[in-house]
Amino acid sequence: MSTNPRNALNFSGGPGALPESVLAEVQQSIVEVPETGLSILGISHRSDWFAAVVDEAERNIRTLLGLSENYHVLFLQGGATQQFSMVPMTLLRGKEHPAEYIDSGYWSRKVIAEARREGPVKTIWSGESCGFNRLPTDDELSFSADAPYLHYVANETVEGLQFHRVLGRDDVPRICDMSSDFLSKPCDAEKFSVIYAHAQKNIGPAGVTVVLVKDEIAQQASDDLPSFLNYRKHIEARSNLNTPPVFAIYVVLLVTRWLLNDVGGLEKMAQINRSKAELLYSALDNADGFYRGWAARADRSTMNVAFNLPNAQLQQAFFEQSRALGFSGLEGHRAIGGVRASIYNALSVQAAQKLTEFMDSFHRQHR
Ligand code: PMP
Repeated sequence: MSTNPRNALNFSGGPGALPESVLAEVQQSIVEVPETGLSILGISHRSDWFAAVVDEAERNIRTLLGLSENYHVLFLQGGATQQFSMVPMTLLRGKEHPAEYIDSGYWSRKVIAEARREGPVKTIWSGESCGFNRLPTDDELSFSADAPYLHYVANETVEGLQFHRVLGRDDVPRICDMSSDFLSKPCDAEKFSVIYAHAQKNIGPAGVTVVLVKDEIAQQASDDLPSFLNYRKHIEARSNLNTPPVFAIYVVLLVTRWLLNDVGGLEKMAQINRSKAELLYSALDNADGFYRGWAARADRSTMNVAFNLPNAQLQQAFFEQSRALGFSGLEGHRAIGGVRASIYNALSVQAAQKLTEFMDSFHRQHR
């Protein structure tokens, strides 16, 4: 039984809920990390203890994903947003052929705008004409062998659109923003040259971004780049180039332990995430059109379930009644409005079940 029922019903789009057992350990660590006798907020980033935290967090991520030594695991600052620029700074500056980007939603658009500052970009598919309510099929995509890389967003957090396959070609580096579905399911990580994901959805608090970068890609970073924007410098410094967010990285370590030891790995995590998503999507589908899902069925996200109600009054009533029952974070992103239930790793099946019960009863009351 949950000790904090409101937190157990936190459907926020991010920062999202974290596992209760992790929160309990974090709480203790604010007062004292048992191995050190010190508060986590006052432990030096140059201590052996912190070096061991980074090592173990890295090892756990490698174990969860089956990632080889060909890849570096970095814990960086600047959010996913900094990666929007760091990737093209490394791989696009001075290039003649355009990098290929897929424009699948709100976050893709932000990524593309930053890439254009660094070099030539070609948008090979855009969801604009369909109002960003679906993703491209294979027939709609063709990838150039000359592109320096292909970039896409694995899960569009705002619209709730998720790619359920790996895109692109094996002879062109694939770069992926996995901010909102990283470590929520198994992933063929070695098909990608760079994967980046900020922590604040599935694996920790805001302040740290995990970057998996293939060695041959990191080696392409020019010496002219500021050190802070150069993957090689971060690799050499073992994610300790300047003062890193010690606290956030420690929480990521605790979440990776939870994934390995309590959940039992990413296949198990994916099963749990799928069952939550199935509950919510069936609540949408079984309401005779009362709830209108944003995403086309084939592209529905297992992380963010976005939908609309028939009118603004009903939406208001939905928010008010759900809030009174302890639910929070259900307001859709300001870019598209509506309702969005984010069901990241730490949100329980029981919480998803409760929300579907509320949705069913709200529908019965107002149809
Ligand atoms: N990419 C995706 C898919 C996101 O959902 C977000 C934020 N929610 C970002 C990038 C931006 O991340 P940050 O705020 O860490 O820069």
